[in-house]
Amino acid sequence: MLLKWRRNRAAQMRGRANSADSSANGGAGHGASLASRTIIDLRNVVKVYETPAGPFTALKGIDLAVERGEFLAVVGKSGSGKSTLINMFTGIDHPTDGEVIVANTPIRHLNEGQMAEWRGQTMGIIFQFFQLLPTLSVIENVMIPMDLAGKYGLSERVARAMFLLEQMGMADDASKFPAVLSAGEAQRAAIARALANDPPILVADEPTGNLDTRNAEIVFDLFGSLAAAGKTIVMVTHDDELARLVQRTVIIADGLIVEEVRR
Ligand code: ADP
Ligand code: MG
Repeated sequence: MLLKWRRNRAAQMRGRANSADSSANGGAGHGASLASRTIIDLRNVVKVYETPAGPFTALKGIDLAVERGEFLAVVGKSGSGKSTLINMFTGIDHPTDGEVIVANTPIRHLNEGQMAEWRGQTMGIIFQFFQLLPTLSVIENVMIPMDLAGKYGLSERVARAMFLLEQMGMADDASKFPAVLSAGEAQRAAIARALANDPPILVADEPTGNLDTRNAEIVFDLFGSLAAAGKTIVMVTHDDELARLVQRTVIIADGLIVEEVRR
């Protein structure tokens, strides 16, 4: 599977360049300035947590720009600040200092309601432990973001959810409850949910951390296809082999980006 994905990568990169051209010509964009290829822009981001033992600086001045359509891996030891970093541009948490601009929106200006709406339209988030709602079926889980955003009409939502589940190889599991799914199935359902409103950005925090090798490869391949189709993907991972397959890897240690590898 990985080999297949590797072989296809050159073609995918060409496809990406073409889609960038078409958006520069006024093609499908996401309402952002066509002049800028940067979709996530962190400038000197500092995060200080207040702890009983005193302030702890988890991010020490991060500069990071992610381009539209890029597939970026973030790697680093446990506790190095990876989750803190992604929480800064998903709006899950806010920086102590510095600027975060996503899809041309400086997100510190958003109030909580605006933040929820903005997040729903701009990004899908995928977690290590899936975070599916246990009392809802798989298809109902996938429809939640659609119900919240109202981008797709009521009558479209079931068909769209089924379409996404089919893409993830999960159509047969649509009416099951999360408890009966394997970890690999649950993560694929969670990816379908992240895609519900067709956001330009997918952010995944250790999405393969709870999967065996085979399922990790399946999930990684799905991200590869989504990147080839034009999504911007930021994936935190512990898996060096997977990290080596993406366009760019940033390595974070003690709250700083210490190395960057482009391929
Ligand atoms: P990673 O995702 O790379 O494992 P995190 O970003 O979760 O690391 O954490 C970075 C550092 O910040 C760790 O030392 C962690 O203990 C600390 N930290 C994370 N969240 C909090 C919090 N809410 N309050 C205090 N310290 C935190
Ligand atoms: Mg983490």
